[in-house]
Amino acid sequence: MGILDEDIERVRGANPLDVIVGEQVALRRVGTRWVGLCPFHTEKTPSFSVNAEAGFWFCFGCQASGDAIDFVRETQHLDFVGAVETLAGRAGIQLRYDDVRQTSTRRRRQSLVEAMEKAVSWYHERLLTGDDARPARAYLRSRGYDGEVVRRHRLGWAPEGWDELSRTIKLPESVLRDTGLAFVNSRDRLQDSFRGRLLFPIFDTRGDPVALGGRALPGGDGPKYKNSPSTKLYDKSEVLYGLHWAKADIVASKEVVVCEGYTDVIGLALAGVPRAVGVCGTALTDRHVATLRNFARRIVLAFDADGAGQSAADRFYEWERRYEIDVAVAALPPGADPGDLARTDPDALRTA
Ligand SMILES: [Zn+2]
Repeated sequence: MGILDEDIERVRGANPLDVIVGEQVALRRVGTRWVGLCPFHTEKTPSFSVNAEAGFWFCFGCQASGDAIDFVRETQHLDFVGAVETLAGRAGIQLRYDDVRQTSTRRRRQSLVEAMEKAVSWYHERLLTGDDARPARAYLRSRGYDGEVVRRHRLGWAPEGWDELSRTIKLPESVLRDTGLAFVNSRDRLQDSFRGRLLFPIFDTRGDPVALGGRALPGGDGPKYKNSPSTKLYDKSEVLYGLHWAKADIVASKEVVVCEGYTDVIGLALAGVPRAVGVCGTALTDRHVATLRNFARRIVLAFDADGAGQSAADRFYEWERRYEIDVAVAALPPGADPGDLARTDPDALRTA
């Protein structure tokens, strides 16, 4: 499996179990233990018990048990190494691996994440300060996005030039290509993938930037939306926009709202519904549902009233049965999209 045993022990020691579990389960102190509703089976009275001192959890209802690493594996759908890496990241522990090939795969991922991080910052800075980003800033203000929203979601502006990012950011060509930030064009030159677009960085559940969603300004060139291609970091049938930010509210409210795009997610948050996530240019998949189920058992679909919502509807019953969840459909007025509605008629949305 790869990570040195010594480092795994350090990771266990550095992550108090009640804190890790407490982020996803409401825990109550009972004597020397913590108890809460089991995240692994449906129940009304708490039978999930956490012994923080021993670093061990157990469910008297379904007999599930484990330590902090198992808990992160199960609830976030990660493999063992992924779970250890997540916990190591939280605790600021640098991991070492015993297998050279694995070390190089993980290092490669890390270098791609760092490149994305750099690009996200570069685009963000451009949006905040660039002269050429004025129309983008004006557009965002007209949508009701203030500076805080822009910073929180780390929105960016991709300038019009062919290769402004590639030229300035000083990353190897292979990294620019493997992250989908740039590609080699028909003249055999490196070209930026995003040009003249507002950018919505897409983060995975760990909070690593893995992709970009680009939106043309009204009257801009090309398709309205354009996302990063599939890469070693990004698979659109798995990642949900906004889940990283919305996690806490989703767990607390036991409900998640699924909508179509980034602007819907941000619009809902602005309207006081900070538990929305977005599919990025794809239908809701089994893997999305399996991920969401770890955070809430009630899924509300807020697609605008066209094909995407309808195709998901065909799968409701199967999902409800297979994942023991409730699926509901928000009754949006025909033609309304949640982002616009949040702006013009927030009350309609909250009661939808
Ligand atoms: Zn249980």
